[in-house]
Amino acid sequence: MLNLVLFGPPGAGKGTQSQKLIDHYQLMHISTGDIFRAHIKLQTELGKKVSQLIADGQLVPDAVTIAMLEEEVKQNPQAKGFIFDGFPRTVPQAEALDAFLAGINEKITAVIALDVTQEELTRRIAERHKVTNRPDDDAEKLKKRIEEYFTKTVQVLPYYEAQGKLDKINGIGNIDTIFADLCKVVDRFEV
Ligand code: ADP
Repeated sequence: MLNLVLFGPPGAGKGTQSQKLIDHYQLMHISTGDIFRAHIKLQTELGKKVSQLIADGQLVPDAVTIAMLEEEVKQNPQAKGFIFDGFPRTVPQAEALDAFLAGINEKITAVIALDVTQEELTRRIAERHKVTNRPDDDAEKLKKRIEEYFTKTVQVLPYYEAQGKLDKINGIGNIDTIFADLCKVVDRFEV
């Protein structure tokens, strides 16, 4: 299996690049943000539990997120591999993912971080906010999400760096150029 973690702050382009990666490598995309939003829309028990936290730009507790992620992986035993988008966002999540994958004789192949300046992130999300209705894209909630990213999520980078799995890519510029850079990393593993 080819298991990728696509890493980056809110607005880094993880969703856009994931879509291109799925088409190119036929991987299964798991975006924890998308799954949470689907639960909220369907008003499931999980959706009710997390909707306020997400609307406020806070992270969902690790135990809830990890259980949901594992469920999603288990439901797709035929997958050629996974793109994890928006997960792991904390070190305990990264540890849980490693342990879980080890249990099914799998591992993370590579972690690719999209590097984007804070200025560009704010600009992109303000644009997105005009066309989508994500309540967590409003300026104040976004501030909270960026804070969560810089206090908790960035700590995941040294975790993977210590395993020699981290690659950083410039996330600003032409979408196809960024994608080509991503492919260069992935093609080192995919035969
Ligand atoms: P972003 O635009 O920041 O990439 P996402 O769509 O990935 O946003 O996630 C939206 C929200 O869902 C997050 O702000 C957080 O509240 C929740 N969420 C998503 N993934 C996780 C996770 N791995 N751990 C905790 N909370 C998460």
